[in-house]
Amino acid sequence: MKIAIPKERRAGEARVAASPDTVKKLVGLGCDVVVEQGAGLGAGVTDGDFTSAGATIGNDAASTLSDADVVLKVQRPMTAEEGTDEVALLKEGSVLMCHLMALTERTLVDALAARKVTAFAMELMPRTTRAQSMDILSSQNNLAGYKAVIDAAAEFGRAFPMMMTAAGTVAPARVLIYGAGVAGLQAVATAKRLGAVVFATDVRPATKEQVASLGGKFVVVDEEMEKEAETAGGYAKEMPPEYFVKQKQILGDHLKKADIVITTALIPGRPAPKLVTAEQVATMKHGSVIIDLAAETGGNCELTEAGKVVEKHGVKIVGYTNTPSRLAGDASTLFAKNLLNFLMLMIDKETKSVKIDWEDDLVKGSLVTRDGSVVHPMLANAG
Ligand code: NAD
Repeated sequence: MKIAIPKERRAGEARVAASPDTVKKLVGLGCDVVVEQGAGLGAGVTDGDFTSAGATIGNDAASTLSDADVVLKVQRPMTAEEGTDEVALLKEGSVLMCHLMALTERTLVDALAARKVTAFAMELMPRTTRAQSMDILSSQNNLAGYKAVIDAAAEFGRAFPMMMTAAGTVAPARVLIYGAGVAGLQAVATAKRLGAVVFATDVRPATKEQVASLGGKFVVVDEEMEKEAETAGGYAKEMPPEYFVKQKQILGDHLKKADIVITTALIPGRPAPKLVTAEQVATMKHGSVIIDLAAETGGNCELTEAGKVVEKHGVKIVGYTNTPSRLAGDASTLFAKNLLNFLMLMIDKETKSVKIDWEDDLVKGSLVTRDGSVVHPMLANAG
């Protein structure tokens, strides 16, 4: 069985979908692993590291992918319109696992179905205890939450911790975090470790205790409306307009006092909710910093510009996209392990071939295309 790991070709992507550890494990199971030349360099992994682990090196995308039974990627494959047609390079009947963005990239999903690829969208993995080790959203967003605080500290012209010195006292930074999911909670923990005073808010009431347990202060907007805010899958629902009015009111004072604002609020498959208005940015302190981790899906702040650091009303607004790629070494190691753990469910050790249990919850939850059709329940009827 041939497993291929091509180089990521999308702009700004430094991660790779395998690590020397995962290659070693797959080779140990009797798989042939081919990694494209230079695929790991952005993450600090050389071709030599991969060959020492048992991989062979493919000269280019075409030779790496040719005849591959399983393709592991970080980002969704590119289509002809985007440059290299990676979909056309996939073997008919092969298995693809990556962050597919299946809910928003319908054209690609249809192209994968037409190519008869068995495609798994790792972002749709159910958030269950059994799936935790395969959960790319958690592994990557955790790192993004950490990096958001580090980015904020780098842009901020002051210190985070309180310092009492002979020359006077430095006040601790005030950090306000919107969204206390995986990224937000790691941001709370990281900002606390740096000595900041941390406030956080979320629509899901379960997060109140989680924020407090990390030393943050939770800001409640409306307990009644928040009772209905969580889906059965643990995600936030889109809130009604009156919630946003109240949120704006209650968080207004916090924003005026904040040194750092980190926004992480997402609704799966929808544009990011707008939580910080242009008007509110104008009320913030000169020199304060907003890190908008939702920049890629439209931003939580009205003034965010995706991929840029801009200054508005004296406030620096950081709209980096793909924050995990800015920690490509660790992000790749964890992403690769998530993929390996999922793939292990499908490798028949006797026959050394792919054997998928179509009734497995994790397979059903993340399978997007099979035998030429789009099969995921969230997409099957929407074509
Ligand atoms: P996410 O990335 O989808 O969203 C980030 C946060 O933004 C969420 O906490 C969400 O509630 C919040 N948010 C959305 N709209 C908001 C608004 N208008 N105002 C303020 N906050 C808003 O979330 P996530 O980090 O992926 O976490 C989603 C859920 O999955 C959580 O319940 C988490 O505990 C759960 N989870 C479970 C497992 C597991 O058991 N395997 C693993 C990871 C996460």
